[in-house]
Amino acid sequence: MMTTNKLGLYLHVPFCARKCRYCDFLSFGCSDSKVLSEYSQALIREIRIRSKDWCFRDVDTVYIGGGTPSLMSAWDMGKIMDALRENFNIVKDAEITIEGNPATLSDEKMERYLRKGINRLSLGVQSFENDVLQYLGRIHNKNDAFTSFQRAKKAGFSNINMDIMFAIPGQSMKMWKDTVRQCIFLKPAHISLYSLQIEEGTEFYELYKDGKMEAVPEIQDREMYHQALAMMKEAGYKHYEISNAALPGFESRHNLKYWSYAEYLGLGLGASSFAGGSRFKNTSRMHEYLTAIREHVPPVDQESIENYSQREEMGIFVFTGLRKAEGFSLDHFHHVFRKDFFDVYDEDILKKYKGLLICADGRLYLSEHGMDVSNRIMAEFV
Ligand code: SF4
Repeated sequence: MMTTNKLGLYLHVPFCARKCRYCDFLSFGCSDSKVLSEYSQALIREIRIRSKDWCFRDVDTVYIGGGTPSLMSAWDMGKIMDALRENFNIVKDAEITIEGNPATLSDEKMERYLRKGINRLSLGVQSFENDVLQYLGRIHNKNDAFTSFQRAKKAGFSNINMDIMFAIPGQSMKMWKDTVRQCIFLKPAHISLYSLQIEEGTEFYELYKDGKMEAVPEIQDREMYHQALAMMKEAGYKHYEISNAALPGFESRHNLKYWSYAEYLGLGLGASSFAGGSRFKNTSRMHEYLTAIREHVPPVDQESIENYSQREEMGIFVFTGLRKAEGFSLDHFHHVFRKDFFDVYDEDILKKYKGLLICADGRLYLSEHGMDVSNRIMAEFV
């Protein structure tokens, strides 16, 4: 899995038809076409503003996430893609992903995406059980997921990701295995599997806090995770990152940038960037975002600009790199920081996490069991 020094672009669309009960992402329940259209205009203006500083960099990945980008009209999304191509040097074989909710994808949208160069579709399926989908507050049912997948294939998408979710209260192992089985049956090129996290600020958190909802025990969570990975491996998927598996050659090139200390520029409300050696974020307040765009200034939240020490950056390098099954190369660490890894970190850490943290062939990585306790091991480096 190679990553390049080319730039990745992330575009955030912070609208969803309805807020899911577990979601703490930066998104608002709104499907007013006028609001969505106004936001797309602002995004296009931001593309022009930001490209002035970044147009000299080749871009080899674009990720349009949210929120629900597929809520935007095909026309607006086409205009965003035109603006990207006019203002950034997007290389010929760039990976260009859009996230879509199965209830919001029409044939017209998929055809336009493909015509405008979007070549990867990430479907938020979550489950193939209608009861589970309803419990999560999703706006789609399992038929929408099947239909949108088949339509996407028919339209010409060969690179499709499916997000699926486990450790949901009330979801039995049988239900989870059925979801994994149906997902594998459709054979998307890529599968992301996430365990439900009860995050502050969500409807689920309120229920949990009031004792009306219980989190799935850790042991059950891990059983579900390993069961799914075993099924995916048997079906030919490679588990290449803690939460991701892909058919050979279909690893997410954009997400690999996040785990390989590569640079990306975030556009849109609240989008994060790591570019030009700095970390910064756009404002998460819509009125501030729109005002900055109207005044032709980058909508960066000045308080978000982080100048981490070299040691902190090393921690980020290790923390993100260990998410990949292949970990990171010690040469890459040296190339970035001009220091040997074991001059910075005590080699005894390998003894402490014997069998969990492995150093071999010039790479440092977690074993499969190491991934189960990744947070504890990664915390040693930050
Ligand atoms: S569709 Fe995704 S971003 Fe939107 S509310 Fe649901 S989980 Fe959050």
